Amino acid sequence: MEYGPAPESDKNAMEFLDRHKRSFGLFINGKWVTRKETFPAVSPATGQVLAQVAEASAGDVDAAVKAAQKALPGWVKAGGHERAKYLYALARQVQKHSRLFAVLESLDNGKAIRETRDIDIPLVARHFYHHAGWAQLMDSELKDYKEIGVVGQIIPWNFPLLMLSWKIAPALAMGNTLVLKPAEQTSLTALLFAEICRNIGLPDGVVNIITGHGSVGEALVNHPGVQKIAFTGSTEVGRIIRKNTAGSGKKLSLELGGKSPFIVFEDADLDSVVEGVVDAIWFNQGQVCCAGSRLLAQESIAEKLYEKLKVRLQKLVVGNSLDKGIDMGAIVSPEQLKTISSFVDKGKNEGNEVWQLENIPSAGCFFPPTLFLNVSPASVIAQEEIFGPVLVAMTFRSHQEAVKLANNTRYGLAASLWTENINLALDVAPKIKAGTIWINTTNVFDASSGFGGYRESGFGREGGLEGLMEYVKPKEEKAFSEKTFAFKAAGSSKAGTGGLDRTPKMYIGGKQARPDSGYSLQVVNPAGQVVGEVGEGSRKDIRNAVEAAQANSKWAENTGHARAQVLYYLAENLSARKKEFEERLVETCGYSAKDAILEVARSVERIFTYAAYADKYDGRVHSTISRNVTLAMNEPLGVLGIVCPDEFPLLGLVSTVAPAIALGNSVVVIPSPASPLSATDFYQVLDTSDVPGGTVNIITGPGEPLAAELARHFDVEGIWYFGSAEGSKNVELLSADSMKRSWVNYGKHYDWLNNPLEKEFLRKASEVKNIWIPYGA
Ligand code: NDP
Repeated sequence: MEYGPAPESDKNAMEFLDRHKRSFGLFINGKWVTRKETFPAVSPATGQVLAQVAEASAGDVDAAVKAAQKALPGWVKAGGHERAKYLYALARQVQKHSRLFAVLESLDNGKAIRETRDIDIPLVARHFYHHAGWAQLMDSELKDYKEIGVVGQIIPWNFPLLMLSWKIAPALAMGNTLVLKPAEQTSLTALLFAEICRNIGLPDGVVNIITGHGSVGEALVNHPGVQKIAFTGSTEVGRIIRKNTAGSGKKLSLELGGKSPFIVFEDADLDSVVEGVVDAIWFNQGQVCCAGSRLLAQESIAEKLYEKLKVRLQKLVVGNSLDKGIDMGAIVSPEQLKTISSFVDKGKNEGNEVWQLENIPSAGCFFPPTLFLNVSPASVIAQEEIFGPVLVAMTFRSHQEAVKLANNTRYGLAASLWTENINLALDVAPKIKAGTIWINTTNVFDASSGFGGYRESGFGREGGLEGLMEYVKPKEEKAFSEKTFAFKAAGSSKAGTGGLDRTPKMYIGGKQARPDSGYSLQVVNPAGQVVGEVGEGSRKDIRNAVEAAQANSKWAENTGHARAQVLYYLAENLSARKKEFEERLVETCGYSAKDAILEVARSVERIFTYAAYADKYDGRVHSTISRNVTLAMNEPLGVLGIVCPDEFPLLGLVSTVAPAIALGNSVVVIPSPASPLSATDFYQVLDTSDVPGGTVNIITGPGEPLAAELARHFDVEGIWYFGSAEGSKNVELLSADSMKRSWVNYGKHYDWLNNPLEKEFLRKASEVKNIWIPYGA
């Protein structure tokens, strides 16, 4: 029996559009500002022009930022409880108008009403409710943090209102004001949202919504009045934004593309898997950043699974977005349809076996659900983000091979694991480089759980406590200062001890290694005396050090307790040799004896502190909705590059290395370029303290070129840089290609002696992975 269409009425949506005379202005400072220049909002399912939308100019961006700046002090002063009431009111309004929002979203984007009604809009409301709670609790739960200021937010077209809520709710909760730019293809629900902001009496200028093309986003990114940019979209644009904000001090979070694996082990329940695949890749027409677009099936069950999928695929219904009976709606735009078609043509030309739904509407932006079988992992369709309803399947034999294939991508957004064996799932989950792991489920989201990527999928998290951290900064503003905290040179330095000419080597993989260049550099103390020489490190030394760090993955697999033991031992051995280190500081930095004693004592204490944290920096279990346990686990970044400050040559080294290795990272360190001899002395302490080779690698030499090599290196997952303002900018610029996390000081000085940001070092040394485990008998 054929099902007939079951259309949802568009009456309320049309009334809303008519009320605005089918023409929308910009929402700046609580008012609608009309503009002559407009562009059409088109329904992709029918080609109907729904309305005209204003194109903002650079002047409009400036006006919106100024409105947000003006509103900021009042919004901060309002306090958490007042803000909570506004967020609660927004949640209520979204719920009250949920049908209108759902219909408008489906019309504008082409997505199925079943999804906007049951998934997008309820999640939007949930986001505002959840963050109303965080606003209320900010003073108690985030008492060491404050708002960042004016936030610029740029969102894509695939989940227009949902992405708006992911951006706006945490920003407002934490006391920021904002300017948001929706994607040019899908502005309408953002404009309806602007209307409800007015309806609830949100103070003018707290939320500003400006519509337009990519150039509007670019002007927002470059505006000097914006303190943070939050972006979701393509990796390509994310990279441009990283480069454009380099050196500006703007905080940045980027949620970018993906090519997420959907791994099916042989003991999985295949009927559930088939429905999982439907949700993974045919949900929202596959236009989902975390879509399970690579099916990895264990060889023993692959054929059986493929047969089931072929049958299921032919049962999917593609049609008008307002038809309640459809599974898949329209692709967002003719351009996106073209992109998808061209990828599929490439896949076909490569000779891959392909299965597609035969029956789809002939007019409008529709594309059939598509399944490619037995695809090579190196194929274009297996590597590139297609952002459409296209699944590529390949097989694996062992669990190890599954992990390797899963990680064989430049992205790292999500993964889905299917097995009836929870032990296997929890063994594999930490090994996959992705921010979210779903076990026996897929594409589930909740406001209380963080979402975000690794590698070229970007950085920062949205949702939950980890997401809030993107919208606050430490209250302790004096941690970084224009003035140095360093001790003054006492002026009576003692020159080198003479005797044997000993030039310390590099320290790579637990062994001393000659610099590849064969050159050395003189080390001069503040009195101008040569106190020794060190090797001049170069690109090749960095490469060898990164390889050694990468080969040391076992360090991360140790328990926190085991790492703590090693760190305590390190502190003990440093303490045993404190005299030697004190003398070295007097000799190389011209310190007084008292200052030298203090720096060494603080260094020992600092290692103790991070040894203590090694088994205490726990994750959380998020209370997500719908019968799930969601484990938010703190994971090491992997290989971390560290460029130490010139000042505090010993304390700067241990204050950065200790938190990084305490959490399981392996590090490549450039010690104080001005005074590296304390670091080279430190090799012996490392050697005698059971620190496994490759955990700490030390390359001496010129700071800036070595920092640039670390920033460029694709296998370095994060970089900390404590040097000049120019060097900070360079590190941020060069980090853009590999999308690595960077933490720089913009030429300011940190108070190493007192370490006011003690816990911040742990946060910057780790990333949160959310593992979703559904339950129910
Ligand atoms: P973009 O990354 O271009 O767009 C995302 C947002 O950024 C839009 O609001 C866009 O404006 C804006 N933008 C564009 N250029 C700039 C710039 N230089 N500076 C600041 N903001 C800018 O994605 P597309 O819409 O072009 O889609 C292209 C591909 O991106 C898709 O095929 C898909 O692979 C991927 N994508 C990934 C998403 C994700 O969630 N990870 C979401 C959407 C797309 P405007 O739309 O007006 O150009």
